[in-house]
Order: sequence, then C-alpha cells, then structure tokens
Amino acid sequence: MSDTTAQDDWLQSSRAAVDRAELAADARTIGRVTSVADGIARISGLPEAPLGALLRFEGGQTGFAQALDAGEISAVLFDDVNGVEAGHQVTDSGDVVRVPVGEALLGRVLDPLGRPLDGGPMPEAEQRLPIERPAPTIIERDFVSEPMMTGVLVVDSMFAIGRGQRELIVGDRATGKTSLAVEAIINQKHTDMVCIYVAVGQRASAVERVIAAVREHGAPERCIFVVGNAGSAPGLQWIAPFAGMTIAEGFRDKGQDALIVIDDLTRHAATHRELALLTREPPGREAYPGDIFYLHARLLERAAKLPRSVGGSITALPIAETDAGNLSAYIPTNLISITDGQVVLNTQLFAANQRPAVDVGLSVSRVGGKVQAPALRSVAGRVRLDYAQFQELEMFTRFGGISSTRVKAQIARGERIRALLGQPRYAGLRLEDQTALLAALADGVLDGMPVEAVPALRQRLPGWLDTRGGEVLATLRADGTLGAEDRKGLSALVAELVAVVAVREAET
Ligand code: ATP
Ligand code: MG
Repeated sequence: MSDTTAQDDWLQSSRAAVDRAELAADARTIGRVTSVADGIARISGLPEAPLGALLRFEGGQTGFAQALDAGEISAVLFDDVNGVEAGHQVTDSGDVVRVPVGEALLGRVLDPLGRPLDGGPMPEAEQRLPIERPAPTIIERDFVSEPMMTGVLVVDSMFAIGRGQRELIVGDRATGKTSLAVEAIINQKHTDMVCIYVAVGQRASAVERVIAAVREHGAPERCIFVVGNAGSAPGLQWIAPFAGMTIAEGFRDKGQDALIVIDDLTRHAATHRELALLTREPPGREAYPGDIFYLHARLLERAAKLPRSVGGSITALPIAETDAGNLSAYIPTNLISITDGQVVLNTQLFAANQRPAVDVGLSVSRVGGKVQAPALRSVAGRVRLDYAQFQELEMFTRFGGISSTRVKAQIARGERIRALLGQPRYAGLRLEDQTALLAALADGVLDGMPVEAVPALRQRLPGWLDTRGGEVLATLRADGTLGAEDRKGLSALVAELVAVVAVREAET
C-alpha cells in the first residue's frame, strides 16, 4: 500500500518537473583556437564576440577578446597557456570580465579576477561588476574639497591631495615611490577611507613588503591588495588596475571614500605594448600602440568625487617610473597630463639621504591649498617659497663666504625646513603635529635650535602635544581652524619642547 503511494508521489513530482522544463533549441557559436603563443590565443569562428568579451576555453581556462580582425580574434589568456592547444573549442560567455566587489574583500590579497592569493576562501561578493565601467561625467562630479592627508609633511604642506584627486607619484628606480604611496595608505588608519593597493608587474618580494608594512603599521582590515605581479599572466597584469578601480567604485557607490594606489603604470604600459605587438596592432611612438593615452585616461578618469547625495570619492595615486629623471618621456608626460598633479622623486636627493626625496621645484598639486585644513594652510603658505629661495641661495653661497645677515638667516631657516621635510618611514604626522611644526617654524622658534635636533623634535612632538596641547588644540581638532591666540599657544608649546631637545642634543 505505502509502496504505491510512494510511486504515485514520485510519478507526480516527475510530471511536474517535466511540465516545468522549457524545451528550446540552444544555438551556440563555438570557435576554435588556431594558434597559441605568449599568452595570446588566436581564435576563428567567433565573429560576433565583442571587444573585451570573456571567452571560455575547452579546458576551463578563460581569457578576453583583445583585438578583432577579419575572421579572427586575438584573446589574452588569464591562465597558464600550457593547457590551451590549437584545435580546442572556445565559447563566448556572452559577458565581459567581472570582479567581485564589496565588504567581503576587505583585508584580503586577491588576484585581479578576485581569486584569493592569501590562502583564504573565495570572497563572498555582494556583486560582480565589469572591470571596464564609464567614468562619471562632468555634471555628475563634485568639487574636490576634503583633504586626503598622507602624514608626510612635505606632501601635505606643499602638495596637498584632496579626496577625489589623481596625483601621480613619479621618479627613477628605487627613489621611494612605493614607500610614499604606502605611507599614504598607512596614514588612513586615522580615517574612514578604504585603501586598494594594485600591484602591476612588481616583484613578489616587493609586494610582500608592502603587505607586511600595511599589516604592521596601518589598518589592514580596511585595505585590499590586488596583485598581478611580474610572474602573473600578462592578461592578469593588464586588467589589474581596471579591476582595482571597479573594486573602489563598489565602495564609492555606497558613499564611502576610497584610495587606490596603482604600482605602477609604466609596467602596465609595457604589458599593454607587449600584448599589442603580439596581436599585431600598429606600433606608434616608442613602439606603444596608438591607444595607450586613451587606455590610461579612461582608467584614471574613473577616479573622481561625487556629491555626497550620490556617492563617495575615489582618490588615485598612480605611480610611474622615469629613466634618468626624464619626465618628458612618452608615458610620464601622458600621465602628467591626465592627472591633477605630480609628486616628483629625485635620485640625487634620495642619495643625499633626503627622504622622502620629493623634488619641491618639479612637484605640483593642481588642487592644492583648496583642500588643506584652514589651520595648515595658514601656516604652510610661505614654506615652499622660503625653501625654494634657500635652495638657490645655497647653490650660490657654496663657493664663498656669506656676508649679509639676512642671507644667513634665510639659509638657517632653509636648513631647518629641509630637516623638517625629511621624515622616516611609518612616522606619519597628524594635522596638529604638522600645523604646530610649521607655525613654530614661521614664528622663528626653530631658528635658534641645532639642525641636528630637528628629527628628535619631530619625533617627540606628537606625544608632547597629546599631554600638553589639550586646550590649545581643541578648536583645531574640532574644525581644523587655528585662531591667533591658539597659534601663539601652539608656538610656545613647541618652543618648550625645542628647549628640551636642544639640551639633550648638547649633552650627547
Ligand atoms: P622601485 O623602482 O624598485 O619600485 P621605489 O621607487 O618604489 O623602487 P621603494 O621600494 O619605495 O622605491 O624604496 C626604495 C628603498 O628606499 C627601500 O629600501 C626603502 O626602505 C627606502 N626608503 C624609501 N623611503 C624611505 C624613507 N622615507 N626613509 C628611509 N628609507 C626609505
Ligand atoms: Mg616600487
């Protein structure tokens, strides 16, 4: 008896399943790999696949359509080429390349397709968004008005960066480009910003050092590392900055502020050139294909500030490498014209132990003072000019004695500025520290102290202000302004500390 009911049930559910099933012809174009080499597969028989289409290979590998020719497309592979052979079937997924976005990515180290590289599980994404998305239009943007402090005095005082700005970090090999960007990421531990570090074509050991530094000194739970290092497939390196930007947009669209560091676009350009030459695009200047400017412009245009009612902001710090300080090479000039300013790092300064080795004359922020807190702006005004004058004077006086007392005073001031601007790593200065140092400098408090004691002053200042600065710093901490009375008080506080460290210096 129970047997027959069970049979009836089964029969009924099967019938229902059959009724639900939709039967239709499934037409699918299948292409074939005609040849494969250097991470590129040539495919025939997929005439309708659009540029950027995500393609699936018979063995489970993926790639994207990079160039379309008559009767053939060139696909860049994301995986090892070894599994792909001529004759293999390829299907057009009908979709573009996407990356996961959302909170689940925070704290993770991922490849540019969102696959874990840190041994953790696959991140459970809220959404998967295309890596290529349109940039906000002019009308949709808002003014860059809020600061994104790096904690590095020379940058925050002279080349202030705002949320939503794009500032290029450019310099020769090993001049501290990555270190400066990492400093900016680490300093965001005091803010609510989400940081995304994108590595393109970097050595695995260098990426490892960045991750370790952020884990030790920063807020890694609000950072995401997107890694397409030198050993990754060229396709992965190529999409890395775009994937990073999409991840940043995921946070921006929820009203958050994101900082994206792209380390570096020179390598990215080289990868683009390599792929373009392999897909037989006509080479242009320095053998880069003609669309190299458009490639980086459409990437960096996506960094912007939106009105608060719509979303947050993306601040971009792309990095570029120069050769022998040549800023007018093709890729650096392109990037300089795309971004809102550049921080130029100088080999000679770096060698002379002036670190960060920022070249004050060549660096610029086209947003600058507008985003500085009023307190910092009020005390930072003259530093750049004083410093520039000092550098010129120093050159001239190197060969002879100094006569005028005015010149002597200018040189003494300049030496103290230089000592202040050098800053060890992982010792970011807060708004109040920077304001106090520059206020004291402008009031001549530092002129009498030995230059050798300046590092000690800078190092002890934050603690000094925390214990004694309560009243004087109240309004500065609340709204970023500094009244005349408070400014005097702040200078006096620094003067007390100057006396303490000067005595120490004299003893040693
Ligand atoms: P690459 O061209 O190899 O990418 P880079 O320009 O990114 O180099 P970094 O790797 O950031 O340079 O720095 C090179 C070296 O300089 C590192 O060993 C780092 O420890 C040191 N360095 C960078 N900035 C500072 C600093 N402010 N103080 C002391 N040392 C520093
Ligand atoms: Mg580097």
